[in-house]
Amino acid sequence: MSALVSKYKVGEACIVCEEHKSKGIHLYTSFICRDCEEDMVHTDTKDPKYKYYINQLKKITTPEIYS
Ligand SMILES: [Zn+2]
Repeated sequence: MSALVSKYKVGEACIVCEEHKSKGIHLYTSFICRDCEEDMVHTDTKDPKYKYYINQLKKITTPEIYS
């Protein structure tokens, strides 16, 4: 809330690596940094890392348009 806090807050918190990054994409209300996005694209679905990404992506709150 204070100016001091916002000064250190660069970009947005990535839901995958949980770090604040300035470059990335928005998925619904969540933010994924460019590094994680590119990493995900290049990660094989058989890779254990892929499961981790999927798990992190579950945190995304999707609008209830299918209900
Ligand atoms: Zn990230």
